[in-house]
Amino acid sequence: MSKIVYDVVEDYIRETLEENTGQIRKMELYAEENNVPIIHKEVAELLKVILKIHKPKRILEIGCAIGYSSIFFESVLDNEVEIITTERNPVMLEKAKKNIKDAGLEDRISILEGDAQETLNTVDGKFDMIFIDAAKGQYKMFFDMVIDKLKIGGIVISDNILYKGMIASDDLVVRRKKTIVKRMRDYLDYICQSDYLDTSIIPIGDGLAISYKKSEGK
Ligand code: SAH
Ligand code: MG
Repeated sequence: MSKIVYDVVEDYIRETLEENTGQIRKMELYAEENNVPIIHKEVAELLKVILKIHKPKRILEIGCAIGYSSIFFESVLDNEVEIITTERNPVMLEKAKKNIKDAGLEDRISILEGDAQETLNTVDGKFDMIFIDAAKGQYKMFFDMVIDKLKIGGIVISDNILYKGMIASDDLVVRRKKTIVKRMRDYLDYICQSDYLDTSIIPIGDGLAISYKKSEGK
Protein backbone atom coordinates (compact mmCIF):
# COMPACT_ATOMS: atom_id res chain seq x y z
CA MET A 1 0.00 0.00 0.00
CA SER A 2 2.40 2.67 1.20
CA LYS A 3 5.41 0.78 -0.29
CA ILE A 4 7.27 1.61 2.92
CA VAL A 5 6.53 -1.33 5.19
CA TYR A 6 4.95 -4.70 4.45
CA ASP A 7 1.18 -4.42 3.96
CA VAL A 8 0.63 -7.02 6.69
CA VAL A 9 2.55 -4.86 9.15
CA GLU A 10 0.66 -1.71 8.21
CA ASP A 11 -2.68 -3.55 8.36
CA TYR A 12 -1.77 -4.99 11.74
CA ILE A 13 -0.82 -1.57 13.18
CA ARG A 14 -4.05 -0.07 11.84
CA GLU A 15 -6.08 -2.83 13.46
CA THR A 16 -4.67 -1.81 16.84
CA LEU A 17 -6.09 1.69 16.43
CA GLU A 18 -9.56 2.67 17.48
CA GLU A 19 -11.81 4.30 14.93
CA ASN A 20 -12.35 8.02 15.41
CA THR A 21 -15.84 9.43 15.82
CA GLY A 22 -17.72 12.67 15.19
CA GLN A 23 -16.31 15.44 13.03
CA ILE A 24 -12.82 13.90 12.86
CA ARG A 25 -14.29 10.70 11.37
CA LYS A 26 -16.42 12.72 8.94
CA MET A 27 -13.33 14.54 7.71
CA GLU A 28 -11.53 11.21 7.27
CA LEU A 29 -14.38 9.93 5.11
CA TYR A 30 -14.44 13.15 3.08
CA ALA A 31 -10.67 12.91 2.57
CA GLU A 32 -10.94 9.30 1.44
CA GLU A 33 -13.72 10.05 -1.05
CA ASN A 34 -12.01 13.11 -2.43
CA ASN A 35 -8.40 11.94 -2.38
CA VAL A 36 -7.26 14.57 0.09
CA PRO A 37 -3.89 13.41 1.48
CA ILE A 38 -4.46 13.77 5.23
CA ILE A 39 -2.03 12.28 7.74
CA HIS A 40 -2.21 8.48 7.88
CA LYS A 41 -3.87 6.90 10.89
CA GLU A 42 -0.71 5.46 12.39
CA VAL A 43 1.07 8.80 11.89
CA ALA A 44 -1.80 10.55 13.70
CA GLU A 45 -1.36 8.15 16.60
CA LEU A 46 2.37 8.83 16.86
CA LEU A 47 1.76 12.58 16.66
CA LYS A 48 -0.83 12.26 19.41
CA VAL A 49 1.76 10.73 21.73
CA ILE A 50 4.38 13.33 20.77
CA LEU A 51 1.93 16.19 21.32
CA LYS A 52 1.01 14.88 24.75
CA ILE A 53 4.66 14.64 25.75
CA HIS A 54 5.82 17.91 24.14
CA LYS A 55 2.70 19.98 25.00
CA PRO A 56 3.23 22.71 22.39
CA LYS A 57 1.53 26.07 22.96
CA ARG A 58 2.04 27.30 19.38
CA ILE A 59 2.23 25.20 16.24
CA LEU A 60 3.05 26.36 12.72
CA GLU A 61 1.69 24.04 10.04
CA ILE A 62 2.58 24.23 6.36
CA GLY A 63 -0.15 22.48 4.34
CA CYS A 64 -3.64 22.70 5.83
CA ALA A 65 -5.80 21.00 3.17
CA ILE A 66 -9.25 20.55 4.77
CA GLY A 67 -7.97 21.34 8.27
CA TYR A 68 -7.88 17.71 9.37
CA SER A 69 -4.46 17.65 11.04
CA SER A 70 -4.98 21.06 12.70
CA ILE A 71 -8.31 20.04 14.14
CA PHE A 72 -6.84 16.69 15.18
CA PHE A 73 -3.94 18.42 17.00
CA GLU A 74 -6.45 20.65 18.81
CA SER A 75 -8.51 17.65 19.88
CA VAL A 76 -5.40 16.00 21.33
CA LEU A 77 -4.43 19.16 23.23
CA ASP A 78 -7.90 19.97 24.59
CA ASN A 79 -8.30 22.87 22.13
CA GLU A 80 -5.63 24.85 23.97
CA VAL A 81 -2.94 25.20 21.32
CA GLU A 82 -2.63 28.15 18.93
CA ILE A 83 -2.15 26.91 15.37
CA ILE A 84 -1.16 28.95 12.35
CA THR A 85 -1.54 26.98 9.15
CA THR A 86 -1.11 27.76 5.45
CA GLU A 87 -3.01 26.77 2.32
CA ARG A 88 -3.02 27.97 -1.30
CA ASN A 89 -5.74 25.86 -2.91
CA PRO A 90 -9.10 27.75 -2.89
CA VAL A 91 -11.19 24.56 -2.75
CA MET A 92 -9.22 23.30 0.26
CA LEU A 93 -9.39 26.73 1.88
CA GLU A 94 -13.15 26.85 1.68
CA LYS A 95 -13.46 23.37 3.15
CA ALA A 96 -10.92 24.07 5.90
CA LYS A 97 -12.68 27.26 6.97
CA LYS A 98 -15.99 25.44 7.26
CA ASN A 99 -14.47 22.54 9.21
CA ILE A 100 -12.67 24.90 11.61
CA LYS A 101 -15.87 26.88 12.14
CA ASP A 102 -17.89 23.70 12.73
CA ALA A 103 -15.31 22.61 15.29
CA GLY A 104 -15.66 25.97 17.05
CA LEU A 105 -11.93 26.56 16.64
CA GLU A 106 -11.85 29.86 14.75
CA ASP A 107 -10.09 31.57 17.64
CA ARG A 108 -7.46 28.81 17.85
CA ILE A 109 -6.59 28.00 14.24
CA SER A 110 -5.80 30.74 11.74
CA ILE A 111 -5.09 30.13 8.08
CA LEU A 112 -2.61 32.11 6.00
CA GLU A 113 -4.15 32.09 2.54
CA GLY A 114 -1.88 31.88 -0.48
CA ASP A 115 1.47 30.33 -1.31
CA ALA A 116 3.46 29.55 1.81
CA GLN A 117 6.52 30.86 -0.01
CA GLU A 118 5.03 34.31 0.55
CA THR A 119 2.71 33.95 3.54
CA LEU A 120 5.37 32.43 5.81
CA ASN A 121 7.19 35.76 5.70
CA THR A 122 4.30 37.36 7.58
CA VAL A 123 4.45 35.02 10.57
CA ASP A 124 5.49 36.60 13.86
CA GLY A 125 6.66 35.09 17.13
CA LYS A 126 8.14 31.76 18.09
CA PHE A 127 6.73 28.24 17.86
CA ASP A 128 7.16 25.04 19.84
CA MET A 129 6.48 22.82 16.86
CA ILE A 130 6.50 23.11 13.08
CA PHE A 131 4.66 20.58 10.92
CA ILE A 132 5.72 20.50 7.27
CA ASP A 133 3.16 18.71 5.08
CA ALA A 134 2.93 20.54 1.72
CA ALA A 135 4.62 20.43 -1.71
CA LYS A 136 7.37 17.81 -1.38
CA GLY A 137 9.84 19.61 -3.64
CA GLN A 138 9.79 22.66 -1.38
CA TYR A 139 10.55 21.28 2.09
CA LYS A 140 14.05 22.76 2.25
CA MET A 141 12.74 26.18 1.26
CA PHE A 142 9.94 26.00 3.85
CA PHE A 143 12.40 24.81 6.47
CA ASP A 144 14.82 27.69 5.80
CA MET A 145 11.98 30.19 6.01
CA VAL A 146 10.76 29.00 9.41
CA ILE A 147 13.58 27.38 11.37
CA ASP A 148 14.48 30.68 13.09
CA LYS A 149 10.90 30.86 14.33
CA LEU A 150 11.28 27.54 16.17
CA LYS A 151 12.30 27.76 19.83
CA ILE A 152 15.34 25.85 21.01
CA GLY A 153 13.89 22.61 22.36
CA GLY A 154 11.20 22.73 19.69
CA ILE A 155 10.53 20.08 17.06
CA VAL A 156 10.05 20.02 13.30
CA ILE A 157 7.93 17.18 11.99
CA SER A 158 8.12 16.55 8.26
CA ASP A 159 5.49 14.29 6.67
CA ASN A 160 5.71 12.21 3.47
CA ILE A 161 9.49 12.25 3.48
CA LEU A 162 9.86 8.69 2.13
CA TYR A 163 7.36 9.38 -0.65
CA LYS A 164 6.10 5.89 -1.49
CA GLY A 165 9.59 4.49 -0.90
CA MET A 166 11.04 6.48 -3.80
CA ILE A 167 13.35 8.45 -1.54
CA ALA A 168 15.04 5.25 -0.35
CA SER A 169 15.44 3.42 -3.64
CA ASP A 170 16.01 4.49 -7.24
CA ASP A 171 14.23 1.30 -8.32
CA LEU A 172 10.95 2.80 -7.11
CA VAL A 173 11.39 6.24 -8.65
CA VAL A 174 9.09 7.09 -11.52
CA ARG A 175 10.70 9.37 -14.09
CA ARG A 176 8.42 12.38 -13.68
CA LYS A 177 9.11 12.48 -9.94
CA LYS A 178 12.90 12.58 -10.27
CA THR A 179 13.27 16.26 -9.36
CA ILE A 180 11.01 16.02 -6.31
CA VAL A 181 12.88 12.91 -5.15
CA LYS A 182 16.25 14.63 -5.50
CA ARG A 183 15.02 17.66 -3.57
CA MET A 184 13.56 15.56 -0.78
CA ARG A 185 16.82 13.57 -0.50
CA ASP A 186 18.76 16.85 -0.25
CA TYR A 187 16.35 18.03 2.47
CA LEU A 188 16.76 14.82 4.46
CA ASP A 189 20.55 14.97 4.10
CA TYR A 190 20.41 18.50 5.44
CA ILE A 191 18.21 17.83 8.48
CA CYS A 192 20.04 14.60 9.30
CA GLN A 193 23.51 16.14 9.07
CA SER A 194 22.94 19.52 10.72
CA ASP A 195 24.82 19.86 14.01
CA TYR A 196 22.03 21.85 15.62
CA LEU A 197 19.34 19.20 15.00
CA ASP A 198 18.77 15.61 16.09
CA THR A 199 16.65 13.91 13.43
CA SER A 200 14.95 10.55 13.37
CA ILE A 201 13.38 9.10 10.22
CA ILE A 202 10.43 6.87 10.92
CA PRO A 203 9.00 4.50 8.29
CA ILE A 204 5.30 4.76 9.07
CA GLY A 205 2.59 6.23 6.86
CA ASP A 206 4.44 7.83 3.94
CA GLY A 207 7.51 8.40 6.12
CA LEU A 208 7.97 10.90 8.92
CA ALA A 209 11.04 12.84 10.08
CA ILE A 210 11.18 14.25 13.58
CA SER A 211 13.87 16.84 14.28
CA TYR A 212 14.73 18.30 17.67
CA LYS A 213 16.32 21.77 17.66
CA LYS A 214 19.27 21.78 20.07
CA SER A 215 20.58 25.25 19.39
CA GLU A 216 20.32 28.10 16.89
CA GLY A 217 21.61 26.85 13.55
CA LYS A 218 23.62 28.28 10.66
N1 SAH B 1 -1.77 18.57 6.78
C1 SAH B 1 -2.99 18.13 6.12
C2 SAH B 1 -2.76 17.64 4.71
C3 SAH B 1 -2.05 18.62 3.83
S1 SAH B 1 -2.03 18.08 2.14
C4 SAH B 1 -3.59 16.99 6.93
O1 SAH B 1 -2.85 16.05 7.27
O2 SAH B 1 -4.79 17.03 7.21
C5 SAH B 1 -0.97 19.29 1.47
C6 SAH B 1 -1.64 20.64 1.24
O3 SAH B 1 -0.61 21.59 1.08
C7 SAH B 1 -2.50 20.70 -0.02
O4 SAH B 1 -3.81 21.07 0.31
C8 SAH B 1 -1.82 21.77 -0.88
O5 SAH B 1 -2.74 22.61 -1.56
C9 SAH B 1 -1.02 22.56 0.14
N2 SAH B 1 0.19 23.18 -0.38
C10 SAH B 1 1.15 22.58 -1.09
N3 SAH B 1 2.15 23.45 -1.36
C11 SAH B 1 1.78 24.63 -0.80
C12 SAH B 1 2.38 25.92 -0.76
N4 SAH B 1 3.56 26.17 -1.36
N5 SAH B 1 1.74 26.90 -0.10
C13 SAH B 1 0.54 26.67 0.50
N6 SAH B 1 -0.07 25.47 0.49
C14 SAH B 1 0.54 24.47 -0.16
MG1 MG C 1 1.13 14.34 4.59
